[in-house]
Amino acid sequence: MRTITLSNGETVEVECLSCALTSGLVEPDGGVIGETAYFHAHQDVAYPIKGLVIVASKRHVISLDELTEVERQDYISFLAKIRKAQRAALGIRHVYYFYNEDTTHHFHTWMVPRYGWMEPFGRSIESVRPVLLHARKQMNDGKSRAEMNDGIQRLTAELKTHIDS
Ligand SMILES: [Zn+2]
Repeated sequence: MRTITLSNGETVEVECLSCALTSGLVEPDGGVIGETAYFHAHQDVAYPIKGLVIVASKRHVISLDELTEVERQDYISFLAKIRKAQRAALGIRHVYYFYNEDTTHHFHTWMVPRYGWMEPFGRSIESVRPVLLHARKQMNDGKSRAEMNDGIQRLTAELKTHIDS
């Protein structure tokens, strides 16, 4: 169990943060970027990186092979739509995808856009954690947060535009 503080100041105990977010019990800061029948997308605002998206399943499953055939199709199609929106709305050229099964939450994939400032941290898997920590510790200023919020709004709008495509 973990304690979550809601936007109205109340605290609730939840078993799984991903369940709390995808069910709507906890509204993610910045809101829901997009959702399908089986998946839910939001930004983890602890990491003010413009265009970073977390895609979580609505069902409490842990491993990729626990997804049903329908969920698998929906997952890859939703990831591709978000990827397209990142390119169209934010001009993002490259994205790193990260998903670990030994999470304390449930099935969720990180879509981490690649920016020039990340170069010194390396170009592959080893750069992901240092990049996220740098963002969380060094970029929590008004400017980065404003950029991030602008990104959330543009992505949300872009995904709404193409909701039936
Ligand atoms: Zn869960």
